[in-house]
Order: sequence, then C-alpha cells, then structure tokens
Amino acid sequence: MPTGGIGGRAPVQRGWERALSHWRMPITDACFCLRCGTALALREVFGHPRLACSSCDYVHYDDPKVAVGVVAERQKKILLTRRNHEPRMGLWSFPSGFVDAGEDVRAAAVREALEETGITVRLQRLLGIYQEQGSRVIYISFAAEAGAGEPVPNVESIEVRFFPEAELPPLAFAHDGEILDAWRAGRRGRRQPPDRPAPASPRSRGRTSLGQIGA
Ligand SMILES: [Zn+2]
Repeated sequence: MPTGGIGGRAPVQRGWERALSHWRMPITDACFCLRCGTALALREVFGHPRLACSSCDYVHYDDPKVAVGVVAERQKKILLTRRNHEPRMGLWSFPSGFVDAGEDVRAAAVREALEETGITVRLQRLLGIYQEQGSRVIYISFAAEAGAGEPVPNVESIEVRFFPEAELPPLAFAHDGEILDAWRAGRRGRRQPPDRPAPASPRSRGRTSLGQIGA
C-alpha cells in the first residue's frame, strides 16, 4: 500500500481493508484515473484492495512488468553489460530489458540484446523465470548464441564486454547465480540431439511455447 496514503493523506482503514490486510496491497502509486482524471481511491474490487475511480468504472490493476534477458555466449565467453542506471548501477548483468505490451517475448529478448550491446543474438532455449519476493518484475531468461561484431554500449550501459566463463565479475541481481547454474546445466546436456517441438495442434496454433525457441 502506498505509505502515507494517496496524495499524502493518511489512509482511512475501513472494516474490509482490515480484513483484507493480508492480501497484497497495490505497490504502484497511481493517483488519478487514466480515463477521467478523478483521484483514485482504495476500494474492494472482486475481493482485493484496488485503486479505483469513484466517477467512472476504471480500476487500476497492479499488473506485473515482464523483463527478458539473455545469457549470450560466443567462443566460451559470456556477453555482459555494466549497468548505467538503477537498480544496481555500476554492476554487471546480462543484457536485458522490458517487454512492450503485445510484443513477442523472444523478439523482445533479441531486441534488448541488440539495443544494449550492438550484438545480434540467436535464442537457443529457455533458462527459467525468476522473481524476487514482492517485486512486480517477472524476469524471463534465455540462453543465446552471440553473433559477430564488437559489442558497443548504449545509454543504458557504461561498458559492454565478453567475459570468459571462469572470470565473471560480481553480478547485479540475486537470481543471476541461479540463471548461470541453469545455463551451465543446459550446456552439459547439449550433447544430446536437440528436442524438436511437436507440430502445432489446431488448439495451440498461433501460440508458441517459450520452450519451442531455437527449433
Ligand atoms: Zn474515472
């Protein structure tokens, strides 16, 4: 719940709010209705406390943010960027960024890697989906093969480099170690023939599983 209440006012806790205090409260601090500009207020919507408009039926749903990143390898070296923005500014991490609404998550991973490093990557497999407790960011990580060319930083990175796997710098996020473990485990198993996705059934046509990349 926004501390101090919306617009700085102390929140008035009604009975249902006390009863629902164990539910997740909104973590974004939207103040005004996107449709009509009226101040939003907390009220119960389908059993959850939501920021909602009192003049129209707009409800501000506290949606998660979806981020994608790649562990991109070339000649046994991993491509990393040194962050030029918070959080964890100055630390190294995998090329990553947010998915735009309606954008294919795999295309977003390739786009972000190209924007942040100047390197075109080819996705190989899904490594995992990661989320820090209480965070609105859901992070989807892919293993990728890095294409040719010298990495070039953009405004979001101080520096971009390939590091030998045994000489990686300290990484920015708590889940980066888990991502590397998943990447190493997948690489050990790569001597087996790659899985081919089953032909799309009429029900699944038009949808693609995240596991079906690189086929
Ligand atoms: Zn409204």
